[in-house]
Amino acid sequence: MRVLIVEDEDALRENLRRELVAAGHVVDVAADGEEGLFAGLEYPVDIAIVDLGLPKLSGLEVIRRLREKDRHFPILILTARDRWQDKVEGLDAGADDYVAKPFHLEEVLARLQALLRRSGGWASSSLACGPVVLDTRAQTVTVEGQSVELTTFEYRILEHLMLKAGEVISKTDLTEHLYEQDFERDSNVIEVFIGRLRRKLDPDDRLKPIETLRGRGYRFALARNAS
Ligand code: CA
Repeated sequence: MRVLIVEDEDALRENLRRELVAAGHVVDVAADGEEGLFAGLEYPVDIAIVDLGLPKLSGLEVIRRLREKDRHFPILILTARDRWQDKVEGLDAGADDYVAKPFHLEEVLARLQALLRRSGGWASSSLACGPVVLDTRAQTVTVEGQSVELTTFEYRILEHLMLKAGEVISKTDLTEHLYEQDFERDSNVIEVFIGRLRRKLDPDDRLKPIETLRGRGYRFALARNAS
């Protein structure tokens, strides 16, 4: 997933960035409100972490302007622990959840995962479509109860497709959400990974979990199980 961090404290921003990259996300960072607003408007962001106390443009203002411009990705705000008003104002401005400082990085990661799942219409941390089950907490995948070994990158592609199961995801979309901005990649590489995923998930070619729509992209084709 592509995560935007808008935080003016260098050490905190860098810690968050490092943790999120280690967890397999693509991360854009901004150190003030103006940069944050620009990145939120220009980049294909899946989710944003926005500190409320920012130079140049407040976090609240960044969120309001993003929402005004129809950017609907989930936003997690960082607030001071003793300022309950901040939480209310942040949620009013269009944020989806908050974490009070100081926080454990694990808490931020768990909240981000939960927000991403909910924005994809999933209620639980386990995404189940027919016999394919992806556990976003443990980052494991099973097919018909048997575990499937995936590389980090294969897992990220599958998670992206399954979070949006039923929707068509273009190759460009996959590339932009899974690679760094300045990291040129041939989108044919995506085809190779999709081919590998298919062989691992469906070696007998019975389930056909990933559909190719010529010229449009891919779709995770197995219906979501009722939770
Ligand atoms: Ca701050």
